Formats: sequence, C-alpha cells, structure tokens
Amino acid sequence: MRLSRYFLPILKENPREAEIVSHRLMLRAGMIRQQGQGSFTMLPLGKRVLDKVCQIIREEQNRAGALEILMPTIQSAELWRESGRYDDYGKEMLRIKDRQDRDMLYGPTNEEMVTEIFRSYVKSYKDLPLNLYHIQWKFRDEVRPRFGVMRGREFLMKDAYSFDLNFEGAKAAYNRMFVSYLRTFTRMGLKAIPMRADTGPIGGDLSHEFIILAETGESQVYCHKDYLDLPVPGEATDFANDGEIAGIVKEWTTPYAATDEMHDEAAWTAVPADKQLSARGIEVGHIFHFGEKYSKPMNAKVQGPDGKEHFVSMGSYGIGPTRLIAAIIEASHDDNGIIWPESVAPFDVVINNMKPGDADCDRISEHLYAAHQAAGLDVLLDDTDERAGAKFAKADLIGIPWQVIVGPRGVAAGEIEVKRRATGERDTKKIETLLASLG
Ligand code: ATP
Ligand code: MG
Ligand code: MG
Ligand code: MG
Repeated sequence: MRLSRYFLPILKENPREAEIVSHRLMLRAGMIRQQGQGSFTMLPLGKRVLDKVCQIIREEQNRAGALEILMPTIQSAELWRESGRYDDYGKEMLRIKDRQDRDMLYGPTNEEMVTEIFRSYVKSYKDLPLNLYHIQWKFRDEVRPRFGVMRGREFLMKDAYSFDLNFEGAKAAYNRMFVSYLRTFTRMGLKAIPMRADTGPIGGDLSHEFIILAETGESQVYCHKDYLDLPVPGEATDFANDGEIAGIVKEWTTPYAATDEMHDEAAWTAVPADKQLSARGIEVGHIFHFGEKYSKPMNAKVQGPDGKEHFVSMGSYGIGPTRLIAAIIEASHDDNGIIWPESVAPFDVVINNMKPGDADCDRISEHLYAAHQAAGLDVLLDDTDERAGAKFAKADLIGIPWQVIVGPRGVAAGEIEVKRRATGERDTKKIETLLASLG
C-alpha cells in the first residue's frame, strides 16, 4: 500500500473526548470514526487490525473444533419469548418493529437463535459434540458507552455455542474453549488471566472471564502472581484429547483468580502477601456453561444411547474483537503512539522514503517495496513528501513493528536503516542484506 493513495486521517491534536489512551490513539491514528453514541466506523487502518484479530480468533476456534456460521443481526421477538428473555432483558435490548408491526430486536447475543437452528436439525447424540460460532455485530444499549470501542453499543463479538448430550460432554466442550482462549489471547501478545466469574442461578464453577490487567480496566480483580508466567499451551495441543485439555484447565484454574463479584476474602488471605495481585482488568472474553437453560424451554432434545430423549447441555463463549483492539493498545503503547504486536499489526513494515523525487531514494524504495510484497509481507510505502520529522512521528504513532528508512546519504553508501518500533533500536544495514533476509 502506498501512503499517498491510502486513507489515513491522522489527527494532530489530542481529541478531547477521549479519556483513555487506547481511545485517544485509535482516533489519532485514524483507525476509527465515531458515528454516534457507542458506534464506530472502522477506517482502513482499524479494519486491518480488526481482520487480523478476527483471523486469530477464527484459527483458534477452528483448531478447537468449532464450526463457523453467520447468523443475522436482526432477530424475531418470538424466539426470545420462548426462552422468556424477551421480557427479562430490559433496556439493554434494542427493540424494533417491522412493517407488519412484528416485534423484532437487534441481537445482543444469540443463544435463542442458535438453539432454534440446533433443534431443527440435530436429533441424535451421534451428531454431538457440536460447537457453532459466528463473528457478528451485536447491539447493547449500554448505560454508559465509553472509552471508544472498549464499550460500544454496536460492537463485534465472536460468540460460540456448544451442544452436548450431558454435563460431562459439556464440561469437555467448556475446557476446549478455555484452552482455545488461552492460545487466542497469547497470539495477540496479551496476557489474559481466566478468573472465576459469577454463574448466577445456574450455579457450578463453569464460568470464567478472561481478563487483561490494565489500570483503565472497568473491573476490580484479584489474582495470584503465578499467572503471569504460567506456560501457555502450544500449537501441538491435542484438542481431541479430553484428558490433556482438562489437565491444562486444571493448571490454569488452580492459583487464585477472581473478579470482584466472586472474590472470596478467606481464600485470598491464603495467598502469600507478596504473591497477591489486586488490580484493574478488562474483560476480553467470557465462557459460560448454562446446561439446559435454553434447551429446556426451547425443547432442544436429542436421543441418547439409552434410546431416551435428553435436553442438550449447552455453553456459550464470547470474545470482543473490537474491544480487544483497544485492550491491545492499552497493553502496548508509549508516549509516541501504538506498538502493535506483530501478529495483529496493520502492516508488518513501513518503508519510509525520506526524499521522494530523489531518483535513488525512489528507486531503492520501490525495489524494497516490491521485494517485501513478494515475500508475502504487508508493507506500507511512505511515498509522501512530508518533512522527515512528521514521517517519523506518523510511523511511530501508527505503530508498525518495523520501519525501513531510505535516505539519500544511506542510499549513496548502499545502506538503509531498520528501526524496531517496540524498542526504538536502529540498525544500519546493507540493502543487499535486507533483501537477502526477505528470501
Ligand atoms: P461487560 O461486563 O464489559 O459489560 P459482558 O459481560 O456484558 O461485558 P458478555 O455478554 O460476556 O459481555 O460478552 C462477551 C464479550 O463481548 C465480552 O467479554 C467483551 O469482550 C465483549 N463485549 C461485551 N460488551 C461489549 C461492549 N459494550 N463493547 C465492546 N465489547 C463488548
Ligand atoms: Mg455488559
Ligand atoms: Mg461482564
Ligand atoms: Mg461477560
């Protein structure tokens, strides 16, 4: 991508409405445009990051055996009357009428709809386990939409729904999502800690919120410092092996970790004082086993091996991709701007042509641009004729992991500079050496 042809509406001034650093930086870096209360357009740079975040989520959902679908955003109130939630949900639900005066709603979540799909097709335990997910916009009329995409009203969610014959199966499904989440957040450069969360009237201990520690987080959380260096399951993790997966979950649920609502002072005092971490956190994911809560009222049954009909045991598993973008920035930035982890960076490399119009700088920049593309990298070529300081500031602000600086003096010596955004380290390299490293 050539910056001269790109749409990157950088803001020079700090937007006054932004209270937290991620919101400020997303606006300044031209990633989002606010369209209304809690609603945002993803501009090209933001859309690139969102796509990368979603792709990681997708890969890890698929790895854990979940199947991607795409359900509509607008739902019929009828379904929600079946589960009893149409009346219970309250003001967070956006209620709409169509031209036939039918009650509709913009989905805040999809348990009812996915249960309807399930009961229409699946009749036997032989077709289980099943886990269906989608990545779709949700609308929740939040009391306090704020902090940009951190708490929007219209926001993207990955929501998965598992169906099993019994509790044992549902627990294995829960564990697979638990491990999948550990991998997902780690791949985005985040340390997410699974914390016991409220199960309400469902009871049991199968609800965890995945929390990123950050001063600007809206939740108060308590955890054992051991979480900060627990090993995260690798790519070779066998999701078909229930025992292996349960072992990982055991390891990741043994040290103390709870959100405010679940905090247990007695258990907390048992954690050595120098291991206690009481902090603010951002909820980026939430997994929940709710058994027959929807299958019973909505009559979603399968025939078991005993020949009898059983209400399926379900769970749901959410991640907020739009909130994650903000959480990643909260966790990774400095005074100059965003520092993207490589896995979610909108571009891998920016080539900074310091003197567009200079024949040698142009030639080398174009050559490097083509070579990076040929190597399969996402590369941005800054071919604009802004002054050097502004170019450097922009590259730092938008946080591309690697900057290649092409200037007239270096080029005359057959050299360019490579700067690593995360550390600021600069390295002078022979042009051939850089080209050779691209393979
Ligand atoms: P919160 O406690 O922040 O209100 P929630 O518990 O209501 O979130 P869930 O119903 O568990 O949210 O939804 C799953 C995920 O969707 C959350 O973990 C979060 O990542 C994301 N999410 C929820 N609400 C919002 C929102 N208003 N804006 C952006 N992302 C959201
Ligand atoms: Mg909420
Ligand atoms: Mg919550
Ligand atoms: Mg939640």
